[in-house]
Amino acid sequence: METGEEKTEARTGSLTIVGLGPGPAQWLTPAAQAAIDAAGDLIGYGPYLDRIPTRDGQTKHASDNRVEIDRARHALQLAAAGKNVAVVSGGDPGVFAMAAAVFEALEAGDPAWLALPIAIEPGVTAMLAAAAKAGAPLGGDFCAISLSDNLKPWEVVTARLDAVLAADLVTCLYNPISKARPWQLRAALELAAGHREPQTPVIFARAVGRPDEALRILTLAEAIEAAATADMATLVMIGASSTRLIARPGDDAPWVYTPRSVTKSPCATSQGRT
Ligand code: SAH
Repeated sequence: METGEEKTEARTGSLTIVGLGPGPAQWLTPAAQAAIDAAGDLIGYGPYLDRIPTRDGQTKHASDNRVEIDRARHALQLAAAGKNVAVVSGGDPGVFAMAAAVFEALEAGDPAWLALPIAIEPGVTAMLAAAAKAGAPLGGDFCAISLSDNLKPWEVVTARLDAVLAADLVTCLYNPISKARPWQLRAALELAAGHREPQTPVIFARAVGRPDEALRILTLAEAIEAAATADMATLVMIGASSTRLIARPGDDAPWVYTPRSVTKSPCATSQGRT
């Protein structure tokens, strides 16, 4: 016969949303690894789950990358049924990723889910990994924008781009291009050319931390022409007016950095006037 105590225990599941970092194991935090080890059920996009070695007794639930809300609901249902669930996300789970999908499902879902213990384990997000490879491009004020117009109209993307470029922020572009969105990156870079000099540094950081990593440091003019060569594994960073290069001897790529100090007003600098 089941005792009341056992019933309570069976219902106490948990949900942790875990950031895996950009790729390599050494960029996974010990806390994220501990959350993965503690979980009985792992949920995520197939390629992310493939990165994680499973131990005995763990079940992996792989899913397609496009069904984030379904994945989030599934995770909440499993946790509500008493499982210890980890939802895994590339980079940081709070940056254009699963943490927001889980809260969207929570907000609209079964009120009983509100009592579940939910935790988020941060990860190294792509723009920080890319910045670390390039030098210190995020030394001044910066922002991150997803170029994907799956979840917001393109006019919203361009209005935000215009505003942050006018404010002279270093601008990191996530989800820059895909087969379904082939022209948006070039359009975004052309928009940047209305606010920045053609020689402004632009970084195309592809697959940072993975074996196929490629870091390209271009000028804005070159980046416009090279837009089609970026892909979904690329993080694009458009410099502020003060972002500059420090040449290195030999074949080493120059360092890219943005000084911490600002002496001119954004309006003057973003228009190239002094
Ligand atoms: N949560 C993730 C971002 C998800 S959006 C994070 O925090 O990094 C997916 C986009 O992230 C990709 O289109 C790409 O722009 C960027 N990205 C993810 N991993 C990357 C990597 N290793 N190198 C460069 N960009 C990456």
